[in-house]
Formats: sequence, structure tokens, C-alpha cells
Amino acid sequence: MRILAFEGTAHTLGVSIIEEGKILANEKDSYTTQQPQGMLPRDVAEHHASLIKELTLKALEKSRMLIRDIDVIAYSAGPGLGAPLQIIRSFVYVFAKRNSLSLYPIHHSFAHLIIANYTANVNDALYVYVSGGNTQLIVLKDNLYPVVYGETEDIALGNALDKLARELGFGFPGGKYIEEYAKKATKFLEMPYTVKGMDLSYSGLLTYAIKLKGKEKVEDICYGFQEHAFAMLMEVAERALAYTQKSQVVLTGGVALNQRLQDMLKDMAEDRGIEYKRVENQYLGDNAAMIGMAAWHLYKQNIEPIKADDAFSKPRWRIEKHLEW
Ligand code: AMP
Ligand code: MG
Repeated sequence: MRILAFEGTAHTLGVSIIEEGKILANEKDSYTTQQPQGMLPRDVAEHHASLIKELTLKALEKSRMLIRDIDVIAYSAGPGLGAPLQIIRSFVYVFAKRNSLSLYPIHHSFAHLIIANYTANVNDALYVYVSGGNTQLIVLKDNLYPVVYGETEDIALGNALDKLARELGFGFPGGKYIEEYAKKATKFLEMPYTVKGMDLSYSGLLTYAIKLKGKEKVEDICYGFQEHAFAMLMEVAERALAYTQKSQVVLTGGVALNQRLQDMLKDMAEDRGIEYKRVENQYLGDNAAMIGMAAWHLYKQNIEPIKADDAFSKPRWRIEKHLEW
């Protein structure tokens, strides 16, 4: 079974090829910007449209395959930004029609979880999923049915980091700049800390941190923000671990590239006697290998793909409903 997979829900366009569950190619190109408004969906769509053919050819070449070697197409059908999702959907529709192929419409967040199973030996985990658009604590029942135990009540952790970065004059995406500046802090600033049972909220913390601009050093603002935001996440993750009795814990999503966050989770897991798992960096941020591996996973569970004519995209799509096509 050879799968050609596409990712394009937000800033990253990715194309991957999977053969019998092996990742042969994982090409990607991410949209970045220095403009003060941050990422504009129209510009992201333009970015994806201008590169999708080139990346597809690169992936095929890397895997030493021709289009006729492909058995099925997988694509990220949502959740995400409407305009880039439309680009991906139209491209796979035409591609599938022309080559008489069927489609696996993959839920982007589900793919972020499944890639941990296949690349980091995860099989009984609490997933701490932190990305630009999502912050959720998830368990996978029978490796197929997600149960969300806790989540942000307002903005996602990645989005909060990106917004703070934008206010501080860094480009998009900004998480990595916040991490770099935080390392050079000299003072710990107290900030709001909002945990509500198994859920958390980042908007108050973000507003507070933005208001410190000009009054405190940028390094100290970044450090204080990170420490509070990550500590909140640790608290709810620890509670979810106690409740679910999972034997492993793993971070997934682009914010998991943050080493301070990984270290905090590792410490917490060790304190509780729980196995800490680490997903390779190349599979943490958005990528198409995770979309292809999710399709491979569904194929192995005897879930049938859909016809090209039924291709869809859903900008808003809860992970619990990922099999509602
Ligand atoms: P994703 O949507 O999964 O690709 O994740 C993108 C998000 O990850 C963006 O909000 C980035 O700012 C964030 N991100 C990337 N690298 C880092 C980092 N080193 N520390 C914190 N956040 C990061
Ligand atoms: Mg993502």
C-alpha cells in the first residue's frame, strides 16, 4: 500500500509518501512573515498553491516513485484555515480524479497523535497536544477513538506565544523567539495563572504579558510567560494522568519543539513514575508524514477511503468526530 499524503491546514505545506507504514519522503515548506498582522489566510493559501506541485514531484523523486505507483491519497481535511484547506482539497480532488484514486480525509489533530504511536513507540499514553490552534489532553481509546480530558477554554498555547511574539516585534511563527529570549532572563515576573479543573485559559496571561511591554525587559516577559503557561499545562496534565492511569505521557504539536516544556514534562513524569516519550522534532510541527501514517492506520483498521467526488474540508472539526466523513 503506497500513500501520497498532503498537509496544509495552516502555515505548513507538506507532501509525504508512505509505503507499507514506512515513511519514504516527508517534504515541507512553511510560510513565515515579518508583517505586523501575522499570518494572513489568503497569503498562506497562495504559498501552498505555488509550491504544491513542486513538493509533490520532490516527494515522488525522493521515493523513486511515479504517480502510477500510488494506491491512495491522504489529505488533511481540517480543522484549520478555510483558504489553505480549500487549496489542498481542490488539488487532491483533481489529482485523484485524473489518476482514478480514492481519498483518506484525515483529521489533522488525530494525525498529530498517531505519528507518536508509529515513530516513538507510544501505545498507552496521555497525549499533551500543543500547537498553533490547539491545546488538549487526549487519550486514544482502542487507538482510534479520541477522548479529550482537558483543553484550553480560549486560545491555544501556540497562538498565545505567536501573539505575544508579534507584540514584542518578532516575526511569525514566534514560539521559538520566545524560547530563545526566555533563556536570557534575569528576573522572574509573577503573572496570572488560570486553571479550571481539567481545563485552562491563556487569554488573561497573554493580555497581562503584553501590558508589561515597555515596563519590563523582553527576556523577563518571555521567561515569565513561558513558566506560567507551561506550569498550568503541567498541572492539568498531571491531573489527567492521575485520572486516566495512563502509563506514558507524550507531547505532540509544534509547541512541543520547546525544550523547556519537554524538560518540565519529563520531570513531572519521572516524579510520578510514568514513562516519558519524546517524538522526533521533524514529526512535532505540522508535516505530511503524520497525515500519511494516519491514513495507513485507518487502512489497517479496515476503514475504507472515500471517492474523489466526496472530497471535503472542515475548518471546524472536533477530534472526537474525526471519523464522521
Ligand atoms: P503546529 O501548528 O503544530 O505546526 O505548531 C506551530 C506552533 O508551534 C506555532 O504556534 C509556533 O510558534 C510553535 N512553536 C514552534 N517552535 C516552538 C518553540 N521552540 N517553542 C514554543 N513554540 C514553538
Ligand atoms: Mg498542527
